Amino acid sequence: MKIPVIDIGACILCEICTELAPQAFAINDAGFVEVLHLEDYSDQTIHEAVKNCPKDCITWE
Ligand code: SF4
Repeated sequence: MKIPVIDIGACILCEICTELAPQAFAINDAGFVEVLHLEDYSDQTIHEAVKNCPKDCITWE
């Protein structure tokens, strides 16, 4: 199964991903976006978040 991975160095903390797919992305205590643990990342909202990231810094591994 593919898992989204965030390039923290490129992320501008625009919060589009956390708004579109809050079940998968959240801003952690350190102030970075992190990928939350899910059994399945196939949800359409997660794909929308990846596509709409303005910095293209979410990739699939
Ligand atoms: S959409 Fe992209 S740039 Fe915006 S907070 Fe999420 S990972 Fe960062």
